[in-house]
Formats: sequence, C-alpha cells, structure tokens
Amino acid sequence: MKDKRFYSFLHRQIPVFIVLSLVPGLGYLFLGWLNHVFVPAFVWYLLIVAASIWGIRIYRNFDFDTMSEQRRDRWYQQCVWFMYVFFLLWVLIFLLYVQQDSTKLHYIAIFTEIGASVVASSLLASDRRLYRPTLFLLMTPLIIYFFMIGEWYGYVLTAFACTLTWVLLYAANSTHQLLTQANHQATHDALTGLHNRQYFIEHLQKRMNSLSENREFSFLLLIDLDHFKTVNDSLGHDVGDHLLKTVVTRLLQQVPESCVIARLGGDEFIISGNSFAEREDCERVALALSEQLILKLKESYVVDQHHIHISASIGVSIISGQHANANSFIKEADIAMYEVKAKGRDGVFMFNDELSYRVERHLEIERLLHFALSNDEITLHYQPQLDREGRIMGAETLARWINPTLGAVPPVQFIPIAEQTGLIVELGTHILETGFRTLREWHDDGIELEQFSINISMRQLTHHNFMALVEGMIQRHLNEELSRKLVFEVTESIVAEDINRVILVMNRLKESGIRFSMDDFGTGYSSLSNLNRLPLDEIKIDRAFVKALSHQEGSQAMVITILKMASILKLSVVAEGVESEAQLDFLRHHGCPVFQGYYYAKPLPKDQFVAYYRGRQST
Ligand code: C2E
Ligand code: CA
Ligand code: CA
Repeated sequence: MKDKRFYSFLHRQIPVFIVLSLVPGLGYLFLGWLNHVFVPAFVWYLLIVAASIWGIRIYRNFDFDTMSEQRRDRWYQQCVWFMYVFFLLWVLIFLLYVQQDSTKLHYIAIFTEIGASVVASSLLASDRRLYRPTLFLLMTPLIIYFFMIGEWYGYVLTAFACTLTWVLLYAANSTHQLLTQANHQATHDALTGLHNRQYFIEHLQKRMNSLSENREFSFLLLIDLDHFKTVNDSLGHDVGDHLLKTVVTRLLQQVPESCVIARLGGDEFIISGNSFAEREDCERVALALSEQLILKLKESYVVDQHHIHISASIGVSIISGQHANANSFIKEADIAMYEVKAKGRDGVFMFNDELSYRVERHLEIERLLHFALSNDEITLHYQPQLDREGRIMGAETLARWINPTLGAVPPVQFIPIAEQTGLIVELGTHILETGFRTLREWHDDGIELEQFSINISMRQLTHHNFMALVEGMIQRHLNEELSRKLVFEVTESIVAEDINRVILVMNRLKESGIRFSMDDFGTGYSSLSNLNRLPLDEIKIDRAFVKALSHQEGSQAMVITILKMASILKLSVVAEGVESEAQLDFLRHHGCPVFQGYYYAKPLPKDQFVAYYRGRQST
C-alpha cells in the first residue's frame, strides 16, 4: 500500500519521534547527572541530537508530488534506517540505566523500554518493515534482562514481557490490516477490483516524475466500450456489471503486468504503459497493444444466456514527463478517444498536434462565437439558383463569419459548434431576420425571385418557440405574397428526432406558405418511407453526386433515380454544386429544373448578388 497516504503517514511520524526523544531526553540527562552517570548520558544525548538533525533533513527532503519513484524509494530506505537508529538509541539508554539498580534507575529503564515498545507498535503500525524489527529490538533486551535475574519473579516477568511483546505485535498487525483494508477500498473499484481514478492519478503523477528524470516516454490508453449503455438499458444492470467484469478479465489477460489498469468510472478504463527511451517505440507498442485489446474485447460474451457483442474505442496519449500534470494526459487520451467515437467507434486514435490544434481551435471558435452576434460579425451571402432558361429564380442564404482573430471561419466549422452549444437558436434567429429583411428589400427594389431558401438546423426547428418566432417575423418583415417565397432547407438528420413533432412543426409553418426542401439529399441514412412522411416540396441533389457525375457511374444512376423519384412524388429539384458545363448538360438532359453552383456564381454578398441579378437580366 505504498501510496501517498503511506508515505505521508511515515513523514508525519518523524517530528513526533524527534520531539518524543529530545524533550524526555533532557530528563534522562538530569537523572544521569544526579546518579553519577552523566558522561555516558551526555554522549547518548549528543547521539540523540545528531539523529534528530538527520531526521529533520529526511523530513525536509520529502515532497511526494515532485519525487520520482526511485527517489521515493531512496527516501523510504533512509526513513527506515532513521527509525531503526532512533529506537536503537533508546535501547542504549535502557542498557545504561538498567545496570544502575543501586540507584533504582533500573525501574526507569524498564518503564522506558516498555513505553518505547508501545509507541513503536502504535505509531509504526502502517508498516510491517518498521514495527516488527523495532519491537524485537526493544523487547528482546528486556526479556533477557528479566531472565538473567535468575529468581522466580524474574521468570514471571520474562513470561509477562513475552506476552506483552505478542500483544503489541498482535495489536500492530490488526491496525495494519485495518489500514490496508481501508486503503484498498479507497484506491480500488468495488465492482471490478481494479484501481480507481484517484489511485490512478496519483500513480500517473509518480510515473511522470520518474519519466521526466530519466527522459523517457510512456503511454496512456483510454478505453471506452461502445454502446455499453444499450446493454445496461436493455438487459439490465446485473448483466451490465457481469459484462464489465468479463471485460476486466480480458484486459488483465492481455495487458503486461508492468502496466497499471484502472477503472475511471462507468465503462471507461485506463491503462498506463511501461517506459521507453524512444518515442517511436512507445507509440508502436501503444498502438499494437490497443489493436490487440480491440480484437480481444470484440469476441462475443455470454452473460446469463445472452450473447453480447461489444466493441471498444481507444484513445492513446504519449506521456513524456514534460507536461504539468497527470490530468492533462488523461484529457488528451479522452480527446483522442472521442475522435474514434466521431469516426464511427471501434478503433484506436493517437492524440497528436493536429488534434490538439483542432481542439484548441474548436474551443476558440466556441468562445468567440458567443460574441460574434453582438459584434455583428455574422453576415449572409446569397447564392443564385437558376432555371433551365438561365433565369435567376431563387437564392440560398449562406452564413459567413469573419472574426478579427480567427479570420474567415467556414460554416461547416462554426454551425456544428453552434448546434452543440445551443447558440444556433440565437444565431438562426439572426439569420432568419437578416434573410427576411433582404427578401423584403429586394422585392421593394424590383428583384423578383420565385424562392428564397434558408438553412434551418434541427435544433432550431424543434425549439419550442420556433413556430411563434417565424410567424412573428413574417408579420414584421414580410407579407403573405413574400412568405410564400420562403423555402426552409432541412437535412435528413431530422428524421432521427421526434418525427411526429417535426411533421407537426412543418405543417404548421406550411400554413404560412413556407415550403420545405431536403438538403444534401442522398447522403443520409434515412429510409425512403420516413422521408415520405415529411411534407416536403423540394429536394436538393447533394453536390457530392454532381461532382462525381463525370467519373462515377453510380453517381449518374443515383442522380437519374433522384430526378425520376422527384417527378413521381411531384417534388421540385435543385442540383447543388454545379461547376461545369458538362454537369449542367447532363442534369438538363435528365430533366433537372433548377441549378445552383460555381458554374453560375459563388455565394455572393448582398450588393454583388444584386449586380449579378441585374447583369443577367440585361443580357
Ligand atoms: P449546404 O446547405 O449544402 O450549402 C451549400 C454549400 O455548397 C455552401 O457551402 C456553398 O458555398 C457550397 N457550394 C455552392 N456551390 C458550389 C460549387 O459549385 N462547388 C462547391 N465545391 N461548393 C459549392 P458553405 O457556404 O461553406 O456552407 C456549408 C454548409 O454550412 C451548408 O451546406 C449548410 O449545411 C451550412 N450552413 C451554411 N449557412 C448556414 C445557415 O445559415 N444556417 C445553417 N443551419 N446552416 C448553414
Ligand atoms: Ca443548403
Ligand atoms: Ca446542400
């Protein structure tokens, strides 16, 4: 149980022993002077003072958090020797005074020896290596002394002294056991018997100190079971617990003994590896071990007649001792693990500079996005949509964010963050408001569009206030005629939500004349029957299909199918990302009615859109 508490406990005893020796030691000096054994007593006291100085140095040399394992071991050795020497000095004073039976000093000597034994058995109970030899050292001379008296009462005292030794040992052992048990509970996980988070962090801190002293590397593997919650929810917690125990058995089989495994909580485990002189070796071993674990954990489990299949996501971080604290490495492994989850789980990923940059940028975007609206940094661009005759019939609004620190942040970066943080509601409101104003302005300036498309996020659409918000805005900025030009673009992710609510919101908004378009059509995983339930008016062929038209036959078939399907379902179609004449020709040939893409125009700032519109009108 050599953890922080263990060392700190020993550390605390050092000054206690010093004070317990220096102060009563003066009394012994005085007694020695009274009883004509001053010189040996004085020499003894000098030795006590010297040992105390040594003890103070040992006491001062202790700083658990910055000590490496080797230094800590050396410190412990010194501490052990210090204790032995200290109690040996008390044996010396016993040997000196016990001979003075003419002056009755021997009574004091006997009491001293018993007292010292009691102190040793209680204060050193945390460590067998200390209390066992010390008790032996203290009690043996006493037992021999009683025995040497050679009279009947001497033998009785010998028996008593032996019994006392046994009792003291027994008491120290019991305390030791209790301490060990309490310590085990404090540092282990009750379900799996593995170390717990608290222990692991202490252990990691120790590892880091020795790694930085030796300029070595090690690794952390953070293992998270995929979809464990589903097992727990569907089969019950007993099955879940059983599964976790089996997982632990497998981990223990695979992981070398020199590694430390802990359970961080739930279905999360962490492993710290051995040390390596070279970073490359460390990375290689970490990845190889991870792959091995992934394979092992994927083998099927049988729990209470249930056959369970589960996979794991592992994040790796390399520890080099340069970092400030253990938690930062766990955080890195955690980020790497989430990267695996984001990429579809069941795999391993190693934390690297690129990821670190991405995470920092993500945090930075998240932080600055909060001020983006109030600082008026979000603007809208408008991309023209053209019909088969080449007339501009519509526009799609696309958000743009230019920040003084970050520069231009593309929407694919900040929209998902806005969605995660919930800021999308506020941001979306701003976009709607700006879009509505533009539509009104253009109408007043004689720019007539058949449709005006705005991207709507899932979180916005399902927000309890959304319908009222849109209706209020329509009243403020538009009229019935203009609101019928609105198209809200949604993505297939909406079918993953409460589809009945989504349908309700859509139908209610349709009463205001708003149409709905399925964006990025064909890229999601929703079933056609689900899509069919939605009151859609338009679909947008994803630009990935348009892009692949020239070199992927499957894409051509896909585009043709979408166009046919749309005509059967009486849906309008917009082809996105049209960049070339060849793409346009193909799409036109198969009956696509509306086109949007760089071939005609990029998303344009408001005034440029107006110029483009007027330019095309005049030709
Ligand atoms: P999206 O809705 O699919 O928007 C079309 C994206 O394709 C736009 O990217 C547009 O600039 C780009 N694009 C248009 N024509 C071409 C082309 O010919 N070639 C290529 N390579 N790309 C073309 P953008 O503006 O970067 O927006 C990316 C995504 O961010 C959008 O994809 C949309 O999902 C999201 N987004 C943008 N603005 C908003 C917004 O106001 N609200 C919400 N919720 N999402 C938005
Ligand atoms: Ca869109
Ligand atoms: Ca799209």
